[in-house]
Amino acid sequence: MSGTLYLCGTPIGNLEDATYRLIHTLETVDLIAAEDTRNTLKLLNHFQIKTPLVSYYEHNKAAKGPLLAEKLKEGMNIALVSDAGMPGISDPGADLLLLCITENIPVTTVPGPTAMVSGLVLSGMDTRRFVFEGFLPREKKERKAVLETLEKEHRTMIFYEAPHRLQETLEILGKTLGMDRKISTARELTKKFEEVKRGTIASLLAEYEKDAPKGEFVLIVEGYSLQQQKLAAAEDWEKIPLAEHMNRYLEAGMSQKDAMKQVAKDRNVAKREIYRLLHVSE
Ligand code: SAM
Repeated sequence: MSGTLYLCGTPIGNLEDATYRLIHTLETVDLIAAEDTRNTLKLLNHFQIKTPLVSYYEHNKAAKGPLLAEKLKEGMNIALVSDAGMPGISDPGADLLLLCITENIPVTTVPGPTAMVSGLVLSGMDTRRFVFEGFLPREKKERKAVLETLEKEHRTMIFYEAPHRLQETLEILGKTLGMDRKISTARELTKKFEEVKRGTIASLLAEYEKDAPKGEFVLIVEGYSLQQQKLAAAEDWEKIPLAEHMNRYLEAGMSQKDAMKQVAKDRNVAKREIYRLLHVSE
């Protein structure tokens, strides 16, 4: 009978965030596959866990994946851990998981912390709808394509970034989304120097120019809001065809009735006129 692959969430800084179930699972599986064995060893030593470790990371996953799948099929239980947080979230894990799914090997999770959720909730921004973007691509063309899809993104956006690239990323986000867009940066979450800043892209850039960023960061960026759309509409409504003006509000989730009301207000005309032009009866 096949063993089970356990995708285990590990602390993102503070070892006290390890759950009882994580410790128990790491103690009782036959093997732990780790992104960086030296790093995971610190966690294992802290909890006096002696389970054998093997490495499974970006550059050996193609060869190591099938070997681990074989062991699972032979009946071994294997825990997969990344350096921090949930495997599969901007970390290796997805490939082994997919391999197990195709080979009918049982998989489960031992849920644990992930930096994006803590960053999001601490930002104070809208958590009802959000989108996780991970690291922006480094390659310019690829990055441009991603940024284009985010220009009118309504949901709160979450990014990961390393300290030495933070300012450049803030500049890029500012150019694409506007320097006055609201943003929050969450640094060193759960660690001694945890810090959350909230402001606009421009204001946080100014702060990091004075005081260089240190540590690991989650960036939370406010979505393109109805308020911004209203402002955009108010600025240049004369240049915008009526149908497009309407679409801005419909795409933002307004009902047709509310959108018509808002368009009439923006254009300073009677509601009836908008109904007439759109051939809609009141
Ligand atoms: N799998 C991890 C997770 O579930 O959050 C993410 C791994 S990714 C390779 C590493 C990035 O996650 C860092 O560059 C940083 O953006 C973010 N991160 C990880 N730990 C963090 C922490 N304690 N505080 C802030 N950001 C963190």
